Amino acid sequence: MRTTCIAFLVGALAVVPSIGGGIVEPETTVPLIQDVDVLVIGGTCGAVAAAEGAAQSGAKVFLATPGLCLGEDVAGTLRVWAEPDEIGSSDLMGRLFAPAGQEVAPATSRIYTTPLRVKKALDTTLLKAGVRFLTGAYATDVLSDASGLPAGAVLCDRSGRQAVRAKVIIDATARGRLARLAGAEFTPFPGGAYSVSRVVIAGSAPECGGTVTRHDEWRPDKDVVQLSSKTTITPGLYECVFPLPFADGGPRAFAEAEQAARDRTFTATQLDAADRVCFIPPDHVKSASPCAKERATADELNLGALRPAGIGGVYVLGPLADVPRPLAAELARPGFAIRVGARLGRQAAADAKSRTITGEIRRAGREGHGAAADVREVRGTLTQPFVAATGTIPCEARELPVLDEVDVIVAGGGTTGAPAAIGATRHGLRTVVVEQLHELGGVQTAGMICGYYYGNRRGFTTEIDEGVAATGKVKSQSKAEWYRRTIREGKGSIWFGSMVVGAWLEGTRLRGVIVATPDGTRGVIRAKAVIDASGNADVAAAAGEPTEFYHPEELIGQGVGMAVIRLGAGGHNNDFALIDDTDASDLCFFGLRTRLMTEGGWDVSQLVNSRERRRLVGVFQVSALDYLTARTFPDTIIQHRSRFDLHGSPSHDFFYTKNIRTANHVTLEANGPYRSLLPKTTDGLLVVGLGMSATRDAMAIMRMQPDLQNQGYAAACAVQLALARGCELRDIPVRELQRQLVDKGILPESVLGEEDSYPLPDAVLKLASHDVMMGYGGLPFLFADPQRAKPLLLAKYEELSTHSSGRDPEVSLIYAHVLAMLGDPVGVDELIAWVATHGWDDKWPADSGARVNRMESYVLALGRAGSTKAVPAILAKGQELCDGKKSVSASRCRALGLASVTLGDPALAGMLASLLDQPGIAGHAIRLADPIPPVPGYDSRSNYSQQEKMEVAREVNLAAALYRLGDHDGKARAILDAYAEDPRGFCANYARRILLDPAGRGTSPR
Ligand SMILES: Cc1cc2nc3c(=O)[nH]c(=O)nc-3n(C[C@H](O)[C@H](O)[C@H](O)COP(=O)(O)OP(=O)(O)OC[C@H]3O[C@@H](n4cnc5c(N)ncnc54)[C@H](O)[C@@H]3O)c2cc1C
Repeated sequence: MRTTCIAFLVGALAVVPSIGGGIVEPETTVPLIQDVDVLVIGGTCGAVAAAEGAAQSGAKVFLATPGLCLGEDVAGTLRVWAEPDEIGSSDLMGRLFAPAGQEVAPATSRIYTTPLRVKKALDTTLLKAGVRFLTGAYATDVLSDASGLPAGAVLCDRSGRQAVRAKVIIDATARGRLARLAGAEFTPFPGGAYSVSRVVIAGSAPECGGTVTRHDEWRPDKDVVQLSSKTTITPGLYECVFPLPFADGGPRAFAEAEQAARDRTFTATQLDAADRVCFIPPDHVKSASPCAKERATADELNLGALRPAGIGGVYVLGPLADVPRPLAAELARPGFAIRVGARLGRQAAADAKSRTITGEIRRAGREGHGAAADVREVRGTLTQPFVAATGTIPCEARELPVLDEVDVIVAGGGTTGAPAAIGATRHGLRTVVVEQLHELGGVQTAGMICGYYYGNRRGFTTEIDEGVAATGKVKSQSKAEWYRRTIREGKGSIWFGSMVVGAWLEGTRLRGVIVATPDGTRGVIRAKAVIDASGNADVAAAAGEPTEFYHPEELIGQGVGMAVIRLGAGGHNNDFALIDDTDASDLCFFGLRTRLMTEGGWDVSQLVNSRERRRLVGVFQVSALDYLTARTFPDTIIQHRSRFDLHGSPSHDFFYTKNIRTANHVTLEANGPYRSLLPKTTDGLLVVGLGMSATRDAMAIMRMQPDLQNQGYAAACAVQLALARGCELRDIPVRELQRQLVDKGILPESVLGEEDSYPLPDAVLKLASHDVMMGYGGLPFLFADPQRAKPLLLAKYEELSTHSSGRDPEVSLIYAHVLAMLGDPVGVDELIAWVATHGWDDKWPADSGARVNRMESYVLALGRAGSTKAVPAILAKGQELCDGKKSVSASRCRALGLASVTLGDPALAGMLASLLDQPGIAGHAIRLADPIPPVPGYDSRSNYSQQEKMEVAREVNLAAALYRLGDHDGKARAILDAYAEDPRGFCANYARRILLDPAGRGTSPR
């Protein structure tokens, strides 16, 4: 039997009151990234078929979708089935349902697929058709040409905003916002209750208050289910149909409906659930050629019904077509939508041929009330493969709608944000959580990192754990649900599929954030305070606060992955790439690449699991040396606890001086001061989670889930204190906050009496300058205050000669080494002598399993000391690696590259060029083409591979070092040029920085 979800009006509801006057956004410009014939907005199967159809007809096509992957109509709704007659309706339909490498046989009963198979089939379709596409991009505005006709759209994403010039727009989104902005008329959306359907995969039927149908024919492959020994669930696919109230057709009403649907369909044995409800809207576009027939085949449907009356160059694709609602329900099914989409794509290509865009294009303004406000947004970049046009497009001043007004906005409802939102609602604050995904919990739920690793499991974390255990059997699901339910119980609002994309300030005070909603509305949420829990300091960066991500000296990063989801799995850790989370194209490409190289499993997560992201440089920046010296603060609000879990190379020279193997295996505690959440100038903002103000080395200890959960809760307490006292967040009585956190069990009582243990007492530094001779004891203290440490070390170094038993060469070498690392050349002769007479593999005395190799450390130190006397020794050491007998390892290249750059002698360039000539060192840049090369060593079960990360960093860093020394026959330039066009934004953006500013090593301390 064919199931469709036909809307029916159950009863009228009041319309949501208007929130008040808009905010006038000043005029600006956005970069033009594409100039195409056809722009498709949305990632449905029909949208992809339209893009393919247009491309096959010779049109230049670009597709952008707010979703983080394609296939929202099938993978996003989990309506992963097709009727027998649908399967053979198109090649694409066959591919959506065919297991890898197989053809779909003609079926006599319903046939099922997986979300991953659907996404991969759509990805591959666009790749093969040569259609570039960008996920996570909201189309928020229409561009118009000199004659006022639609001429493209403005996109809004992690990289800021970009313009796409297009002769024809196909709006395949659920609400047709671009078509509306272009002037299309729609029938009204009467407030009322409408029938929706939501699919849940669970061990028992949800009680949704409507009808629940179990799909008995659905039999998941063994590989898509992975229940633990403790969990016994027989997965069933349940289709729940029930009425839901919609206040109107606006984004708030849809956000609330999505929550209400989850309220009604969660069950304790849930293994997965749809991102979106399936809903046939009551409203539709008004066309000049409406279709009156309730039934028609996809080939019979008059395409005029998709074209808004009186507007050229725009189509809607999907249930918003001007067709009777039963036929609209057909348009929501993939088989029908693909055939209509393909026809529409061909039509759009033909239309584009006869259309000329006249004059300059711009985003027209809208009437504003009053003066322009201080609206800010991030301006990032996209990698070259996603940018095929140049220039900028003017955007006139216009009014942004105010979408809501609350006490607190939590930007990002992940590991830290969801607890922050709960904390805020518990304090009675009107709270809204804006979350890009369709569930809460971030890395720990959507990212499938469901288990703790260290962290202090106390305070609010204990409450979370008890709540989650009582909510359901599968942690990824029950944690997301417990967060959601608890926020709802506290009357908080949750906006899924929505992204915070900017900040609205008055002077230095943040008044609210700019949000893009799933339908493409770009508006303002006013708030008294904002907790930036994006894990990427998105709000802080938009507000103009200083942030950091790339290390100025080298391409260095902490491992990133993406989880493969198997139903019921307890988690899936991963680390196989390096990503720049501020680059929308990097995130898009990484998702695409991961899906394409993943065989098996139910799905691939929509969240990029990055350990290291853009971080605030706030009032106080926590460093690794703070916790290595057990620094206390007067404003500690969290005690973070972990082993040194960096997943990559550290960056501070401390870690390249001392063998940190011990530190690597010891559990360390880091005090987290409240000031590390505070931006330098913006008021009304706290930055939590991975975006907080801490160095990348410090994050290895600070980022554990139990601690970030408590941190989110603590941030909410701080907001409540500030609002209750009417003071700025930076002026709250911190001891009072600490007292609350002690009472909550988050902090021990002892912190209440603590003060800053810095500046370090003279006696401590003196002791450290002595202890360093014994296996580098006390080293963190010396590195923590190098200005005061250096004279003490120099005195000790001098003293060695006066020792009764003579100068101990090993001890002398230690002082020479540490002083060199701190920039003092006093002992370089000793170091040069050692380097000249020892091999790359020589070990530290009495030390096994060192993390940093002795020769590498000395080579680096010779560079840091800055004495040109070291050049011949470094040259000789590098040339030793070019004889083919020794491993040209990444860490050796790192030491040679960094030392060469800091010494700055062009005589070293030839040696670096020779290293790049060694087998396997160069040639690792890739292109965005079909097929996309998989990550070497990637395995969708274990999901760990270090090879590509190492190869790319080694090649880029050697090339960057060579380029900074003036290059050698254009070798470095050629390599950096190749990487600048690489779709992997992390290396492309770094290569571009070096090419633009080779000397720009920045000033950031190590
Ligand atoms: C692969 C991996 C393995 C790990 N393993 C462990 C482990 O075993 N145990 C452990 O304790 N810790 C582990 N960690 C560390 C820990 O999981 C993370 O440090 C932590 O989850 C980060 O929390 P967060 O709140 O900063 O970010 P997230 O959990 O990612 O939350 C950020 C949320 O904000 C949303 N968002 C981002 N930008 C916006 C925006 N502009 N608008 C709206 N929404 C937005 C995102 O969708 C996301 O939901 C691991 C981390 C990774 C990446």
